[in-house]
Amino acid sequence: MVFLPRTSFMFSSVVIVFLVGGLLSIVGQHKPGPAVSLLQEIHSLQLNSTVCVDPEAVDRASTDFGLITRAVPAAVFRPSSDRDIAALVGFSYASARPFGIAPRGRGHSVRGQALARDGVVVDMGALRGDGQGRIRVCGEGCRPSYVDAGGEQLWIDVLRETMKHGLAPRSWTDYLYLTVGGTLSNAGISGQTFLYGPQISNVYELDVITGKGETVTCSEQHEADLFFAVLGGLAQFGIITRARIAIEPAPTMVRWVRLIYKDFAAFTGDQERLISLEKKKGFNYVEGSVIMANSLADNWRSSFYVEEDITRISRLAAQYGAVYCLEGGKYYDHATAPSIDQELKSVVDDLRYLPGFEFRNDVSYMHFLNRVREGEAKLQSRGLWNVPHPWLNMLIPRSRMLEFDRGVFKSILKHNNSVGPILICAMNRNKWDQRTSAVVPDEDVFYAIGLLRSGVDGWRNLEEQNEEILRFCDGAGISYRQYLPHYTSLAEWRKHFGAKWDVFVERKMRYDPRALLSPGQRIFTSSFGQHQSM
Ligand code: FAD
Repeated sequence: MVFLPRTSFMFSSVVIVFLVGGLLSIVGQHKPGPAVSLLQEIHSLQLNSTVCVDPEAVDRASTDFGLITRAVPAAVFRPSSDRDIAALVGFSYASARPFGIAPRGRGHSVRGQALARDGVVVDMGALRGDGQGRIRVCGEGCRPSYVDAGGEQLWIDVLRETMKHGLAPRSWTDYLYLTVGGTLSNAGISGQTFLYGPQISNVYELDVITGKGETVTCSEQHEADLFFAVLGGLAQFGIITRARIAIEPAPTMVRWVRLIYKDFAAFTGDQERLISLEKKKGFNYVEGSVIMANSLADNWRSSFYVEEDITRISRLAAQYGAVYCLEGGKYYDHATAPSIDQELKSVVDDLRYLPGFEFRNDVSYMHFLNRVREGEAKLQSRGLWNVPHPWLNMLIPRSRMLEFDRGVFKSILKHNNSVGPILICAMNRNKWDQRTSAVVPDEDVFYAIGLLRSGVDGWRNLEEQNEEILRFCDGAGISYRQYLPHYTSLAEWRKHFGAKWDVFVERKMRYDPRALLSPGQRIFTSSFGQHQSM
């Protein structure tokens, strides 16, 4: 197959297409220097995939959703099969001049984690096609039921495919246009995490291409060390080409509520109470957020409210500086619909939100899970989506949350007028499998804090605030962990992984000894991994 990108075809006077026996094709304009020899080497593999060097494709692979960092690869590899990816990795591993290789899901990282300076970005989306074939559901016939999904697949497509069988994965992210391989490399968290654990706690088996180019099927029973290394492993040990994910019968409807608090202790106390309840007695989904005076109308979570509610809540936020929103979801279906009012009442009655500030909606399960898409469309239409995203995600131990509120929400962010939600989501540590590479605070309950702010008017001032927040936590001795971590020194990475660091390094030496994979994470720093600011 020969891929001709429209721009280079139309505008470039130098479109180079090498065809050897109709196999691997290289498309685009050669850059002088090291890229040329690299391309010639890849070309010699005679694969059935495309290597793309046209400026538009390379430029797209040079940055990510964050629009903060930039690292230009030598080429973009569009695989036609898992086998070709394995050949590419194996080739670099065996080469006298190895090059970095970064699988790219949707590039929805915000700190360059899917970039590979002077190396090769593997555009996993090339395997997506129409989604058919690489998403296979085994429902009734399998105990337990599961879905096999390619690492490149979007969670929205996994949902659509499983729902055809009345089934669905149980642990989600807020946004579904992310890839299976991308979120499993981190953890995959949302309001269901308290109940089911992160997405990495809901995987039975993986197919992985290691940094040596070997393809390994791994699970808790077979090649367990690689299996747990890859889950939450920041893409350092292998490229996920298939994940076998737990599924269960899907509900059809969700009673979706939002409750507003002015008191932080009441808000967190209620979240903690809710995440301690059994599934039948409480919510199936629990998340929270901070609402600053002007932050509601412009964030991608506001499609829930009618205009009048937004005015009331914003007025309240202006009065108190900030208010807090507890969000719950109770799943139901045709059979349980008659009792949903009563069930919800028994959950909400004991909560300490502000009287008169309870809002509810009934939506389909699909609509509920895909709720952020609507917000995205709204921001897209206003030109507020493709802007810099200096996001900061942290995991904070429960015992330090009141200090965090005082020091961050009520102090550093007091006059925060930026666009984008600030999430506060309680989680149970016992739902995280400690054998995975993911690290979490050392307390039974901790909070995921997501400062998902957009740099509509520039991002450096927001980044300075992020740094101030981290300094505040360090100064106060709050032993936080970053989620989707971003560090620039070995000492910080060592601190991040804590007791897991030695194992992390051993596993790197075992599965990717030449440090080829996902150099953009900048853990095992080498010349592959350098970024520049945009
Ligand atoms: P990429 O950004 O392309 O890649 C992420 C990392 O994984 C890179 O290092 C890359 O090299 C590697 N990688 C990609 N594919 C593979 C693969 N197949 N095998 C191995 N490694 C691979 N996260 C949450 O947990 N919960 C949320 O609710 C949530 N909401 C989000 C909402 C938005 C709008 C955005 C932009 C991000 C959100 N995220 C959330 C973060 C998201 O999980 C990360 O950005 C993650 O990296 C997934 O994005 P991606 O699939 O585009 O992966």
